[in-house]
Amino acid sequence: MNDSTYKMILLFLLILFMVIRAPFIYSRARTEKKVNKTTLIDRTLILLFTLGMAVVPLIYIITPFFDTCSLGWPDVLRISGIFLYLFSLFCIFFIHLALGKNWSMQLALCEEHKLITTGPYRYIRHPMYTAFCGMMVGQLFLTSNWFVGCFGLATLLLFLGIRIPKEERMMAEQFGDEYRVYSSQTGMLFPRIGKKK
Ligand code: SAH
Repeated sequence: MNDSTYKMILLFLLILFMVIRAPFIYSRARTEKKVNKTTLIDRTLILLFTLGMAVVPLIYIITPFFDTCSLGWPDVLRISGIFLYLFSLFCIFFIHLALGKNWSMQLALCEEHKLITTGPYRYIRHPMYTAFCGMMVGQLFLTSNWFVGCFGLATLLLFLGIRIPKEERMMAEQFGDEYRVYSSQTGMLFPRIGKKK
């Protein structure tokens, strides 16, 4: 397959991501927030990650600006990237269903916020962030472009490095021992090996 075919596939995947996410963003906008710990730094990190996972890929798709950063990887790697990205999108959809109205893009808690410990949350505290990692590794393989791939991964890692400790602190403040016990039984981004809930 040639580069423009991969670019069209990435465009389709980006649109699919937005279609999956839109209903949850819409219903979240109507949910009242009880606590909002989002700071300017958190907003900047969300913006940076949006650049890495959507804006830079869109520039890559529409213009030839980043074509000089091509890694020339074989089709087998690039097609694996498509499947990894697609699989991550499906995971994101089911994680949204598991989290329900407790989800928010921001660092916030809604009225009657419940601690979800079922579905993927039974094993991992941040399955949605794990799925984002899958998307960004998929983006690197699929684009076979070091700038687009590494920028997406770097902005995600920066976002997660700051967001996860803050989110866990907020959850521990809200749910106390319930969250501490839950944390001790689960993995952060990957399931704990050899420990069952
Ligand atoms: N970090 C989680 C959720 C991302 S959405 C994941 O990667 O799957 C971020 C919001 O989800 C946070 O603001 C917090 O309010 C909420 N949240 C995170 N973990 C939760 C849990 N186990 N139960 C309920 N809400 C949770």
